[in-house]
Amino acid sequence: PHPALFPALFPDLVAGVERPALRFGERCMTYPELAAAAGALAAGLDRGGRGGRVAVWATPTVETVVGVLAALLAGVPAVPLNPKAGGRELEHIVQDSAPVAVLAGPDAELPDALAELDRVDVRAEAPVPGPPLPPEPDPDSPAFVVYTSGTTGPPKGAVLPRRALASTLDALAEAWQWTADDVLVHGLPLFHVHGLILGVLGPLRRGGEVRHLGRFTTGGVTRELAAGATMLFGVPTMYHRIAEALPGDRALAKALSGARVLVSGSAALPVHDHDRITAATGCRVIERYGLTETLMNTSVRADAEPRPGSVGLPLRGVELRIVKEADEADEAHEAHEAGAPAADPDEVGEIQVRGPNLFTGYLNRPEATAEAFTDDGWFRTGDMAVRDPDGYVRIVGRKATDLIKSGGYKIGAGEIENALLDHPGVREAAVTGEPDPDLGERVVAWIVPYDPERPPGAAELTDHVAARLAPHKRPRAVRYLSELPRNDMGKVMKRALTQDG
Ligand code: ATP
Repeated sequence: PHPALFPALFPDLVAGVERPALRFGERCMTYPELAAAAGALAAGLDRGGRGGRVAVWATPTVETVVGVLAALLAGVPAVPLNPKAGGRELEHIVQDSAPVAVLAGPDAELPDALAELDRVDVRAEAPVPGPPLPPEPDPDSPAFVVYTSGTTGPPKGAVLPRRALASTLDALAEAWQWTADDVLVHGLPLFHVHGLILGVLGPLRRGGEVRHLGRFTTGGVTRELAAGATMLFGVPTMYHRIAEALPGDRALAKALSGARVLVSGSAALPVHDHDRITAATGCRVIERYGLTETLMNTSVRADAEPRPGSVGLPLRGVELRIVKEADEADEAHEAHEAGAPAADPDEVGEIQVRGPNLFTGYLNRPEATAEAFTDDGWFRTGDMAVRDPDGYVRIVGRKATDLIKSGGYKIGAGEIENALLDHPGVREAAVTGEPDPDLGERVVAWIVPYDPERPPGAAELTDHVAARLAPHKRPRAVRYLSELPRNDMGKVMKRALTQDG
């Protein structure tokens, strides 16, 4: 059975409970204000009937939230657009998703790529309560089309049904004991699953509050947590900045130690950062794991023992298996076979998932959709992992960029990165594979040193890794950079490293 949805998707919005819902900088909205503004806009959107899509110019503003809610209320799928995306990417998304209009705040300046679209101004003030809401859309109908960042080709639009939103948010609420009393500190962009679905729709579904920092700063985190916020969602680069700031910032340490839940996701949080944050605050950071296509799959529970380096257990309703990679020779056939063999407990395999949290397919790409699933209906995440004996999942890395096949071994980049980050001279580290005539691939370490004048030497770093990990995992080359190439979510773009290097 599907979880109850709208109006039950946002019960407090519909019921008009007089509570704060949003604060973005100086702009605050209560639930009744949000319901009125979104309802008024939704009435206009429903004009053309169901079937079309609307793009949302997803700046970190209350207007974006109103626009997204209006689309959800009207049953019109929303396509969040990254305001920092280049013209080419926006053109691709507009062409692929063919929105009937773009919703944007009155102050937004839209780029040429959107010039052909009808513009609908989103206003966060509604003088009168909105008209009656349209009938509830089917739970399997699409709520969003969210584009993947396209590290593996042109961005693909993942079609996310309403049921997936409800099931993922409720499963997270259960794992984190997330309630209406929680106030979330948010510093992420609003055009991705993390920032929009978890960070905005999550608090609204619970009846709690979200406070957006506009731009992430450790000062903003300190201020909001000290003022009573209870949760923080961040990507690893944010927790890295927090870990770096903590030794000199007592107020930050104090604020964090009062938080109820600190959550990291979108990429792996290095163990070194976990450890530094716990040492300085007494709090641990919880990691959860998901993809655009699946929403959330696993998390460490808020009431469980800390386990740095693990993304925890499957969330309620999610089935997860780790499938052994077929041998090189028969990879092409076997990897797609139904009932592929399960990996042994400490053996690396691909994470595959099933559940109510999954997307229904890629927009306009039946072949890519078919390829993403096994014959027996499991979604192939492309992420490689091992399981601890008690079932906790540890991600080794993405099959495409983080798994290095060297001298007959399969080596995960993450473990070597963690070892390098343990070195006092290393601020940031990324590990890639590079073609090697002898080994097939060799391990290459990319290092951002603390002191660019006197970086730790290659031999020193290689020895440092060899002292911690098996000898075949030591880097064969070390390259120095002033920063790692990262996308808007702070993810290291390894393809950029290997291409430019
Ligand atoms: P694309 O799929 O186009 O390459 P992307 O990397 O931005 O773009 P997302 O769907 O946003 O795609 O990210 C999903 C990926 O993020 C997962 O497949 C996984 O590799 C990584 N990820 C998310 N959370 C975690 C986590 N806690 N630990 C490690 N990796 C994570």
